[in-house]
Amino acid sequence: MSALLDRIRGALVGLKMPRALEALDHTLQQLEKGEITAVEAIDSLLSEEYVTREGRRVDVALRTAKLMPIKTLESFDFSFQPSLDRERIAALAQLGFIRRSEVVHFLGPPGIGKSHLATALGVAAVKAGRTVYRATLAELIEALSQAERSGRLPEKIRFHARASLLIVDEIGYLPITQGGANLFFQLVNARYEKGAMIMTSNRGFAEWGEVFGDPVVATALLDRLLHHAVVVQIEGASYRLRAHADLIPEHVRANAPITPPPPPKRRGRPPKIRNGAADH
Ligand code: ADP
Ligand code: MG
Repeated sequence: MSALLDRIRGALVGLKMPRALEALDHTLQQLEKGEITAVEAIDSLLSEEYVTREGRRVDVALRTAKLMPIKTLESFDFSFQPSLDRERIAALAQLGFIRRSEVVHFLGPPGIGKSHLATALGVAAVKAGRTVYRATLAELIEALSQAERSGRLPEKIRFHARASLLIVDEIGYLPITQGGANLFFQLVNARYEKGAMIMTSNRGFAEWGEVFGDPVVATALLDRLLHHAVVVQIEGASYRLRAHADLIPEHVRANAPITPPPPPKRRGRPPKIRNGAADH
């Protein structure tokens, strides 16, 4: 018996299962007292190890993906944002859009939860074992410019093209130089139909020429980013300012509606834009 136990301990060490090793004695005691069956003992040892390991994997992946601080769909108050279809977000959380390499756009004014929802979908994807990377557009362009200056642009684009989901946050807040727009276009092109993206923006697609400082690049970007796209338009009040609504001037409080996307010019294949349809 003790030789057998030594062998089990040795195997757990060799297999790098420290949690199961730790739980072994207690589990055996429970087994001897007849508190659990043999099958329950096996289950208990394996789940101890699995849960610990999975927790660690998710933790590391969330940090690598830059998804901290964590946001979840459970912590999102849908009643505060009645223009948002909860079922539609729940459908997105099934992550079919990642399998289909689609682009999800969250559009709307500041503070309405665009980044929260994007991050929450990213967290769901990490838990499902997908690789995710999140950055603001400014951070992404800065990283690409730096890589270009040091002659490592192809490598950097490959890195950002690899994740199964790339989240590009805060499109439209900061002006983009023409060089920056070109770099971003190269990245989008590298991911086109190969990997999913989530984009958040406070500006309508009609304003992208202005955002990217170049209508030609903006049109080429939209051509790819609206081809297999899900557009979620959110209209409502800022969650950040919810306690201070009375302090905000009327003209700021009323959210200017965002212009709908212009039809992308494309010969051949018709664009497949599903606006308003649930994600299946
Ligand atoms: P946006 O990206 O649209 O500017 P955020 O997603 O950053 O807005 O939201 C601002 C803050 O308010 C974040 O801390 C976010 O978690 C929180 N928040 C926004 N909307 C909601 C909501 N409906 N329920 C819970 N928290 C929310
Ligand atoms: Mg945001």
